Amino acid sequence: MICDSCGKEPATVHYKEMRGDESTEYHLCEKCALEKGIYITPDKKPFTVSNILGGMADEVGSDLETCEGCGLTYREFKDSGRLGCAKCYESFKEQLRPLLRRIHGSNAHMGKSPSSRQEIFEKKKEIDKIKEELAAAVDREEFEKAAELRDKLRELECS
Ligand SMILES: [Zn+2]
Ligand SMILES: [Zn+2]
Repeated sequence: MICDSCGKEPATVHYKEMRGDESTEYHLCEKCALEKGIYITPDKKPFTVSNILGGMADEVGSDLETCEGCGLTYREFKDSGRLGCAKCYESFKEQLRPLLRRIHGSNAHMGKSPSSRQEIFEKKKEIDKIKEELAAAVDREEFEKAAELRDKLRELECS
């Protein structure tokens, strides 16, 4: 089987993407898979970061989503920070939702800033530690643990 994307390399990554009720199967070479944000575990299981972290890295893999109204891609929107037409919001709803939640979340916590240099330092240390644990959990495919750590991380980063 040949890679769907480049049509040259042998397809070694077989990835099924679920969107609602529909599923699309991709057969890709490793290079094209990576370009699409699909990673391969050491035992050749494909996954996207958004699969696992659902939200934290939600942009990965959805960059190529295109607005029906104006043809703007989500990646272009991210680069410019501007929506192209009234339909964009609808088109990128899925991608925007976590973003909006994040903005909302940080608003809610405004005014509660760490009171001392020491506190900031401690918090940063804690965040770094959790990030390391998160990466390790993903490596070990402990996705439940990864999700837990992700939530913890979000809480910390917003506080
Ligand atoms: Zn390819
Ligand atoms: Zn648009």
